[in-house]
Amino acid sequence: MLFKSMQRSASALRTALIGQKMLKFKARESLVVHPKIGRTIEELRVENRTLEIIWDDGLVLKTKMGLKGSWRIFHEGESWGAEKRTAQLLIGVNEISVVCSGAIEIESYHDFDLRRHPILGRLGPDLLDQNVNLDECVSRLMGYENPDETIAEVLLDQRVVRGIGNVHRCEILWACELHPWAKVSSLSRDDCQEIISLAAGVLQTNFELSTAELAVYGKHGKSCSRCGGQVRVTHHGEANRVLYWCVDCQVRHTDVNSLGNVINHDAPRRIHPAEHLYLSEIAKIKKSV
Ligand SMILES: [Zn+2]
Repeated sequence: MLFKSMQRSASALRTALIGQKMLKFKARESLVVHPKIGRTIEELRVENRTLEIIWDDGLVLKTKMGLKGSWRIFHEGESWGAEKRTAQLLIGVNEISVVCSGAIEIESYHDFDLRRHPILGRLGPDLLDQNVNLDECVSRLMGYENPDETIAEVLLDQRVVRGIGNVHRCEILWACELHPWAKVSSLSRDDCQEIISLAAGVLQTNFELSTAELAVYGKHGKSCSRCGGQVRVTHHGEANRVLYWCVDCQVRHTDVNSLGNVINHDAPRRIHPAEHLYLSEIAKIKKSV
C-alpha cells in the first residue's frame, strides 16, 4: 500500500512539474547545490521511498521519505495549513507549489558528477561568463579524453565547459545540424568553434528560451521548422537524459555504427517523454510479474 501511494503521489507530481520552468525554490535545510530558478524540471524518478527530481542542467534533488513523509501539491491561493510548520522543501512552478515534509534524508547533486566521476576532475570554463576564453573551450572539446564519446554526451560534461543544460544541448545540436551520436573526435576545429560560439551566445544573451523559440526540445512528433521532418525523442547517455533531435536534417557526422543503438521512446503528443518512459516501464513490470 505504501509503495502504491508513493507511486500515486509521484504520478501527480509528474503532471504538475515535468516540463515546467521552476520559479521558486526554498529549502529549510542547507543543500550542497540549489536548483536554479528558470531551469526546467525534466524528470521524476521513484524507487521504494526515495523520490528524485531532475532539472535540465542535471541537478538531482533526492528525498528519502519517512513513513509519514509526503510531497503535496498546492494550487495558487490554496491554504497550506499545517504544512507551513513542517515543510522542508518548496518548489514553485506556474500557479502551483509542491511541498515536501517528513523526509528523513535530503540531498542534491549533479548526476553527471556522481555517476561518472566520483573523483571529480576540474570543472571547465563557465560559458555564462562574458569574459570566458572561447579558444580554451574549443580546445577542451577537441581534446576530449574519450574520442568515441558522442557530442550529445560531451556537451553535458561540466569538465569541458559549464553552463549547457539539456534544453540548450538539444537546441545547439539542431542549430549546428549535428547528429547527436556524432563522435566527438569526428568534429573539425571549425565544428567545435561553431558549437562553442553558438552556445556562449545563447547562454549569455538569451538564457531562458521561451517555448516558441525552441526548435526541437519538447517538440517530439512535430515538424522541424527547417526541413519539415519529424522531431524525435530518446534517452541517451549514462545519465539517461531525454534528447530531442530532427532525424531528417541533423545528419552531419552521422556515425552509422551507432544508429542501431537508438531506442525509440517517441511519446504520444501532449505527454512528456519522461512520463511516457515511466508508463512504459510500469507496463513492462506488469508483464513480467
Ligand atoms: Zn529538420
